[in-house]
Parts: sequence; structure tokens; C-alpha cells
Amino acid sequence: MNENYLQTPVTYLKGVGPNRSEILKSELGIVTYQDLINLFPNRYIDKTRYYKINELQRGNADVQIIGKVIHIKTVEQKKGNRLVATFLDDTGEMELVWFRGQKWIRENIKLNTPYVIFGRTNWFNGKFSMPHPDMELLAEHEKGIRVSLQPIYPSTEKLSARGITNRVVSKLMQQLFLETKGEFRETLSPALINELRLISKKEAMFNIHFPKDLKLLSKAQFRLKYEELFYIQLQLISKKLIRKQKIKGYPFKNVGKLFNKFYKDHLPFELTSAQKKVIKEIRADLGSKAQMNRLLQGDVGSGKTVVALMTILLALDNGYQACLMAPTEILANQHFKSIKELLGDIGINLALLTGSVKKAERKHIHEQLEDGTLHLLIGTHAVLEDKVQFKNLGLAIIDEQHRFGVAQRSKLWHKNEVPPHILVMTATPIPRTLAMSLYGDLDISVIDELPPGRKAVKTVHRFDKNRLKVFQFIRDEIKKGRQVYIVYPLIQESEALDYKDLMDGYESIARDFPLPNYQISIVHGKMKPQDKDYEMERFVKGETQIMVATTVIEVGVNIPNASVMIIESAERFGLSQLHQLRGRVGRGAEQSYCILMTSHKLSSDAKTRLETMTRTNDGFEIAEVDLKLRGPGDLMGTQQSGILNLKIADIVKDNDILKTARHYAIKILNEDPGLQKEENKKIRYTYAQLMKHKNIWNYIS
Ligand code: ADP
Ligand code: MG
Repeated sequence: MNENYLQTPVTYLKGVGPNRSEILKSELGIVTYQDLINLFPNRYIDKTRYYKINELQRGNADVQIIGKVIHIKTVEQKKGNRLVATFLDDTGEMELVWFRGQKWIRENIKLNTPYVIFGRTNWFNGKFSMPHPDMELLAEHEKGIRVSLQPIYPSTEKLSARGITNRVVSKLMQQLFLETKGEFRETLSPALINELRLISKKEAMFNIHFPKDLKLLSKAQFRLKYEELFYIQLQLISKKLIRKQKIKGYPFKNVGKLFNKFYKDHLPFELTSAQKKVIKEIRADLGSKAQMNRLLQGDVGSGKTVVALMTILLALDNGYQACLMAPTEILANQHFKSIKELLGDIGINLALLTGSVKKAERKHIHEQLEDGTLHLLIGTHAVLEDKVQFKNLGLAIIDEQHRFGVAQRSKLWHKNEVPPHILVMTATPIPRTLAMSLYGDLDISVIDELPPGRKAVKTVHRFDKNRLKVFQFIRDEIKKGRQVYIVYPLIQESEALDYKDLMDGYESIARDFPLPNYQISIVHGKMKPQDKDYEMERFVKGETQIMVATTVIEVGVNIPNASVMIIESAERFGLSQLHQLRGRVGRGAEQSYCILMTSHKLSSDAKTRLETMTRTNDGFEIAEVDLKLRGPGDLMGTQQSGILNLKIADIVKDNDILKTARHYAIKILNEDPGLQKEENKKIRYTYAQLMKHKNIWNYIS
């Protein structure tokens, strides 16, 4: 097909015109023939099935019914009239309703004559009704060519209000195929098409819009989904290759004194083999001349901190400074303390920079960073302030990445001429599928093993009415010397109410666990940082046995003696949050417990979440369930990424297609990085078009 021809503005298509073209543009972003052809149906309706009126169910989708109109009348309403027809078949009656075009209908409809009607039914006033049905005389219907699968196109309220119904879109699509003769340029290489037994582009386009049968439809869908995912992966992977070639990083050539000394004399435990593997991967990155951009995933408690520290030592050994950023002050504090402790007297100058560091101290830190005497800076977002200038920052580690946006990452980047190596650590396991699409341009390391000797946390679900038993359990655990977290939800919209819940909860716990036998800490978002730290500190030191808190403790906090996690109103937490919270316990040698408290009113999603939590401790499995429950759009702000704005594929459902698409994208780029080979000509052409224009589907036709 002639490329330029497909760039024709859709206004020129017969049946469109200026008015319609404007709505098509504002509602669906359709400007050219090409855009229209790439409007794929959301679903298809089985037109071989005819319903009887007594078979209709509430919430029915679109149905096709044969029957007769026996009566028609205008019903007056405050806002305009409506035309109502009584429609019968041999099993019952229903209403057909029109709000627009009533005159034409009244004059043209034939009473007591068999029609085939088609549309969506509503249940209203104890009756089924169908607004604005598609109607065809049965006699005509039997003569005409019938499609067995009718495509239903994406639509909006405005489109249907302006008369651009599904039928109109279908008509336009037919017209477009007529004008273009359905000829579309092939966009994949013959080798790919053969190997995966794909149907041609031309056949796929035809069958996605006018499916001949179910089998061809599913082949068309497969081919187009594959194509969409393939080009996304090709883009991500070639970006990564380019980054590796073009973006210089500081080569860390030496594994030197600090690293070796730490390994020999300071490391308090044997590294797990997963930790060793990851450190090796990181070392390989740092030793190459390219900038490292690595995502380190490891479940809570898997031991990411020590990996971070050893990476830092590699930077220091090569004469560079390093920084480690955490999303909260508590966590930054904790990193600072545990790293300081691990390092002991090894001879590294490190400092903590958070919002609550005093001015004079801050100034001192700035100076030391600039003259290079400060080797390691640990902190919160405060590290990103413009005033903070390093002499030679060689490595930046970001803990709990999803709280730092991409923009912030690039802020770090601009602190030097040569960008520092970047290691992003997250305890939120990202399902592989999603990781491939979101972070396809990052390298990924996974710590998939917990340090030895950990007992899996036992998780149970209890209803509120069993609170007394739960309290007794808490007493028993405290008697054994353990500590307990009790966590309340605090969700932005209902903050005042949540705050009250927290305070009520605190009071009732204080009553059941009275002084002097029991000491209770409380930490929540409304407290001053110093007060928070003070309370946290008391708990860390074991001066208090119970920590009542909101989710501020969600991330990273490590208190091995705490062995019970009670989560109040657990039905209100998301899966990843529940998993994070549970990760706060089970860090010592003792058996730990997580108790999910809920009311009896549970949505089915909430039930699934609770069931998942009590069934498994595997963060990746939990992440997969989460992805299925919430869909990709909701996870981690992925809606901004645009990558998930897919036209036909579905990241969750088309997981397998994604994997093969990625596999082939890698293979092709490995064999032919510049896509110069003759056999990849079609891919090169398509990819070049794609890079020129943002919307992938704009140029895959
Ligand atoms: P996370 O991955 O959640 O950040 P941490 O780095 O805080 O986990 O580690 C959790 C706990 O496990 C810490 O107390 C740490 O000292 C300990 N730990 C880490 N690695 C090992 C190991 N290989 N063997 C034993 N304990 C370890
Ligand atoms: Mg951590």
C-alpha cells in the first residue's frame, strides 16, 4: 500500500466530513486513514445467536432478538419526549426506546412485521428495554450477507451522542477497506512470520475488522498483539544497547582494600548465593566502561543493604564518592546506623543528611562533599537539593525505588558530567511481565533467596470479634520477650477518620496493656520527625513492647526482636502493602506471626487478598496476584509510562506473547544491531517510522 495514501486525512473518507472528523480526532485521536485502520475492536458479538425475550438477563451485553412491534407511542417527559414501542416475541414482551430521530422512526417502522433487533438491553421499571436498537426487517436480514462476528469498537459518550455509533464506525471501516483495497505493507520479517506461523499483515488487518470466523480472528489478534509487543521490546532493548555503548560511566577497575577488608574482617555472616550472584553482576557493570543502570529486586529481608554497602565500597576503592537515598527519614536513619555499624573502624567518613539535620551541620556536610573528604552520604530527598554538590559522585543507590520518580533519578544524573552508576533497590517485587515492559531498558538483578535460618512468617486472618483472643496471644508473646507491631490504615482521602481510628485503637490497647507492665510506642504521620524518631528509638531499644503505628513503618525498618505484626482493617490495604508490612517481622530467629484483622464485610477482591496473604510468603507470587487484581494501570504509577497504553495487547493476559516478542527482539538485535541485514529490511523500515512518530500504531501499517 502506498504509504502516503494512508496519511490522507480522514475527512476525505466518504462518510466522514469536517464535523465527524473533528469528533473522531478529539474523542479517539483519529486524524488519518492510518489512525482509523488501527482502531481495533474491543470485542466481538456472536451474531449467529438469537435471543428469546424470556432468556434476557440483567446486565446482558448486546443481544439479537426476532419479534414484532405491535404498538408505538410518544411518552412526554420534562426534557424532550421519548418514543416507546412494544416489542413481542413468542416468549414475552419488551420496550424499544428512542430519544432522537423519533419522527423518522414513527413514519417508517412497520407494525406487526417481523424484525431482527440488535442492541444493549436495560432493566428498567420491571421490564427490559432497548434504547436505539439496530433494526432490520427479518426478510431483509435473511437475504443479506451476515457476519457471524460483529466487531464492537471503542467508543465514548460524546461519539454516540453525535451519532457516530458502532454501526457508523463499521461502515467507515468498510469504506476504508474499499478505498485501500485492503492492501497493507508487511511489517515483520519473513523469518519471523515463518517461525511463528503468523498470518500476513494484510490478512490480519482484514480479519481483525471483518473476522471470517473465530479461528482467523484469533490468528489476527495474535499477530497484531505480537507485533505491538515486539516493537515495544525492540525499542526498549535498542535503547539499552545504545545506552551501553554511548553513555560512558566511570570504570571501577579496582576491587581494592576496603572491599576486601570488609569482606574478610567485617562481614558478620556468610553471603547467600543470591547475594553473591548479584554482587558479581554489579561488579561486571561497574568494571565496564558504560554507566550502570540496574534494578535490584529482593523481597523484604533478603539482605539488600549489605549488597548496597559492598557496591559502595567498590566506588570508594576507586576514589569516588557514593550516596544512598531512602524515601523516609526513619529508613535513612536506619541505613545510616546499620551501615555505620557494619563498617566499624574501617576508616570511611560517612554522614546522614535529612530534613531535620541542623543548618550548621548541613553546611559542614556540604563542604566536606565538595572537597571530597566525605566519602558516603546517606539521606532522604534532601540529597537531591541543588546545594548538595559532590566532588566526584561515582555511585548513587536509591532504596525503595517506586517512591522516587524518574525525574528525580535524572536529577542525580545531572550532578556530574559523567553520570554516576545507578543502582535502584526495591522490595516490591515487580512481576516479570511488568518489569520487562516498564524497565526493559534497565538491567535487573534479583535476590531470590532469604538468609538461612529464617522461619517463614505464619499468617492468619481473624475477624474483629476475636480480638480478645488476639490480645491474649500478644500477652503471651510479650511474656516471651517479643515485641509487637499494631498497624492502622492511613489513607489520604479519609485522613481525619483514619486518625481517629488510630487514636481510638491506641486508647483501647493502652487499656488492655496497662502500665507499668506494658510500654507502648506510637508513631504516625502527624508527629514531628524528632518525636517519631524518639518513639521509634524506644521500640528499637526494646524499651517499649508494642508499637502502634500507621504505615509509616511500612518500608525497610529492621527490628529482629519484633515477631508479631497485627494489621487492623487489613481489608483496606493493598496486597503489596500487606506484604511489605509483614516483612517487618520474621527478621530474627524466632517464629513470627502476621495477624490480619478485618470486619465481616469483605469485597471479593479483599477476600482474594487475604487468601493470598495467608497462602504464600512469596513476594513475586503476591505481585502477580496484585497485578491481576488491579491491572497494570494502577500499579506504581505505571499509567504515566505510556508504555502500557497498548492498543491491542494486554500486559497481564498476553504474558506469553510478550515473552516471545522480547525473545525475538533480543535475538534480532544481537545478530544485527543496526538492522542492516536484508532479511530485517521490513523491520528496519517499520522501526524507523516508529521512532519518527510517537504512536507505534501510526506507522505499523
Ligand atoms: P532488605 O533486603 O529488606 O533491605 P536487609 O538488608 O535489611 O534486608 O537485611 C535483613 C536482615 O538480614 C539484616 O538484619 C541483615 O543483617 C541480615 N542479613 C543480610 N544478609 C544476610 C546473610 N547472608 N546471612 C544472614 N543474615 C543476613
Ligand atoms: Mg532494606
